[in-house]
Amino acid sequence: MSQRTILRRCVSCKKVLDRKFLLKVTRDFQNGVVLSSGMGRSAYLCPTESCFEEAWKRKRLQKALRCEIHSSFFNMLQKQLNTCIDSDTEA
Ligand SMILES: [Zn+2]
Repeated sequence: MSQRTILRRCVSCKKVLDRKFLLKVTRDFQNGVVLSSGMGRSAYLCPTESCFEEAWKRKRLQKALRCEIHSSFFNMLQKQLNTCIDSDTEA
């Protein structure tokens, strides 16, 4: 067993998935809310349009991270999402 599977729950659909399939959003103690990096409280989200919308409209990430998230972060996240979906199509 060379790779350990780390399971995390999506904040929107509540599905439990391998962490590598999820987007990680971290409330970094220095840099604020960041994607795929940072140290601090984290929340996970499926890289799908539906989970993104659910997270955005219902403030799932804000609730999970217990802080406000600027709309520019969501814009960035959505762009990231589109690249994730694009790269999935080749599989
Ligand atoms: Zn989800």
